[in-house]
Amino acid sequence: MSIKEVRFSDYDLKSRLQETIAARGFETPTPVQQAVLGLDDVLSTDLVVQAKTGSGKTLAFSLPLINDLVGGGAPRVLVLAPTRELAQQTAGEMEWLGRPQGMAVATLVGGVSIGPQISQLRRGASLVVGTPGRVIDHLERGTLNPDTIESLVLDEGDHMLDLGFRDELEAILKRMTNIKRTWLFSATVPDSVRYLIRRYLKDPRRLTLSADETANDDISHKVFVCPSRRRYEALVNVLLWERPERAIVFCATKVETADVALRLAQAGFAAQPIHGDMGQRERNHALEMFRSSSTGILVATDVAARGLDVTGVTHVIQLGLPSNLEAYVHRSGRTGRAGNSGINVTLLSPVEARKMKGLIRSFSLRITWFPVPDRKDLEQLEQLRLTEELDKLAAMAEGADYRETAQAILAREDALDVTAGLLARLAFQGARGYALKAELEAEQERAQRDRGRRSDSRGGRRNEYRDRSRGYAASGRPRPRGAR
Ligand code: ADP
Ligand code: MG
Repeated sequence: MSIKEVRFSDYDLKSRLQETIAARGFETPTPVQQAVLGLDDVLSTDLVVQAKTGSGKTLAFSLPLINDLVGGGAPRVLVLAPTRELAQQTAGEMEWLGRPQGMAVATLVGGVSIGPQISQLRRGASLVVGTPGRVIDHLERGTLNPDTIESLVLDEGDHMLDLGFRDELEAILKRMTNIKRTWLFSATVPDSVRYLIRRYLKDPRRLTLSADETANDDISHKVFVCPSRRRYEALVNVLLWERPERAIVFCATKVETADVALRLAQAGFAAQPIHGDMGQRERNHALEMFRSSSTGILVATDVAARGLDVTGVTHVIQLGLPSNLEAYVHRSGRTGRAGNSGINVTLLSPVEARKMKGLIRSFSLRITWFPVPDRKDLEQLEQLRLTEELDKLAAMAEGADYRETAQAILAREDALDVTAGLLARLAFQGARGYALKAELEAEQERAQRDRGRRSDSRGGRRNEYRDRSRGYAASGRPRPRGAR
């Protein structure tokens, strides 16, 4: 290629910093790093940078900030991250980068004791990374002085607001009186983030890095195979497994749309139908409900979904194969928009699965085939989710007001029962999932036996179960979305 490859050494970074990057084995800055480093007055502007996960955002903001600092001392940079894990990850990255420049990192996250964090700050940490709750804690105790902080980075701004940190963020932003620059890094820029930008950033420069990523690469395609008479049960299991934040379920007919939406709603899902027989007002209402809710399922026909522009759709679920591949691609394109990643799930009968295999041969869709998750899988996943939920709660230090009550509960003889009861409240209140596995396997066996018996009949009738048996035995179990 004739285009010259960009290198870190092309940028105006101190030689010590260059050495540190080289020692780590990094040569080429990622696109988001190039975009930020390429701004000539980057330190004198607020920034809104949109780039997807794993694109190297940490170095993108750390490099110019660290390059500008000299030695250790008081906190100069504060990076806020939505979760303990992300904060720790970012801190780790800033650590190897900053330490050789004589800068220490303090990591202020919840769920761990505050003492060591206070000593870290006392010893002098110019780089501070933390979750909002714990950072406020330090600000209130006076162990973190906001006055020396010049740079504020809101990392994963969208997730921070998803997790309900808006009040905390505002409380922190209000205390930062000597801020020279506020940089927001986010994979997406939903309305909630826009509000924050309008309120707290001054004429931010915007860098959007998602344009060079094709939409299709951001969608992963999964197929679950099960007989069409068990399609509804399979849908429930898949919904419980995937736990979409927002999903559009595509059905073939208006009747099916209404039926599926009704059954899902009865099973405890926030499902709304949308189809051509509904009046415009009803349709608008359904759309509004879907747009404004943080979780929701829109059950739609192709026609009703045409031209629908809803952001934040995490899942498209296709019940059955549409009439052609164009429709398939069009449906799946409702997710994975604006550089977000999305998941397209298709539930197919064995016959449809065979057709699908024909279709994808002529297109280069990368599709993963999964067995439908069974009730047991769902129960295990729910336990895992609850544990993660508890970790999150602990990290957010949300329950500070309830500590005394919690102590009293722990002292009770029935503490175990109380805790179990609380967990049951935290768990999903709707459908439990269907036990399908045994049934599907029995059918598969029957089909195999039938096939053996029929094998001498000329060519044999097309076997409805053949593809399902392949689909069902496909590689491993699906990976839960929540279990990162
Ligand atoms: P993001 O915050 O955008 O999700 P990170 O900043 O965590 O992404 O970076 C993802 C991974 O890529 C990290 O392990 C990081 O060390 C690595 N990385 C970052 N920049 C580069 C680079 N220029 N070359 C090679 N690896 C990099
Ligand atoms: Mg990051």
